[in-house]
Amino acid sequence: MGPIAMQGPYLPDAWLPICVGHVSNPPPRSSDGLIAFSPLIVVNDAVILATVPTNDACLSSGFGPRSGKMHEGIDLKARPASMVFSGGPGVIREVGRASGYGLNVVIDHGSGVSTRYAHFDRLEPDIVEGTVIGFGQALGMMGQSGNATAIHVHYEVLLGEWGARGVWDLVPTDPFSWPAYDPSGEMS
Ligand SMILES: [Zn+2]
Repeated sequence: MGPIAMQGPYLPDAWLPICVGHVSNPPPRSSDGLIAFSPLIVVNDAVILATVPTNDACLSSGFGPRSGKMHEGIDLKARPASMVFSGGPGVIREVGRASGYGLNVVIDHGSGVSTRYAHFDRLEPDIVEGTVIGFGQALGMMGQSGNATAIHVHYEVLLGEWGARGVWDLVPTDPFSWPAYDPSGEMS
């Protein structure tokens, strides 16, 4: 058991609309046209994560092939720009500017699960490598740094153990593909 950090102020939204305009790889929708998703997912049978770690957002791009490349996360857009929160408790493993991702943060949640948040405009002052973070703590404001054509957050759910290549050893997965967290103890 590692150190425990305080849970942050974030409360997940129950709804996520699809943004107006072209949206690649949209997830399944229910009969009312809304994205069929759970605000909390269970990854690797071990880690509870927020599916959409920001508020008042719409989905502007799904996970999957896009323009001949693999889009390894989901894009969430909010206007005005929203705060982005930690998807789950863990340790911040990387903070900095990376090619394409711009100003980005990677959190290691243990159990072979990590998350990446990219294209920040700016980060909160305590968001540095090695910080132990709780669920839903403020990371920074979504922005357009790196290879981004509009203000949004790019969110990745990554699997694997951290090796010599750091975050590049991890395998991206579709956040919408994981089972819903059910506080009654049953997964659906
Ligand atoms: Zn993206």
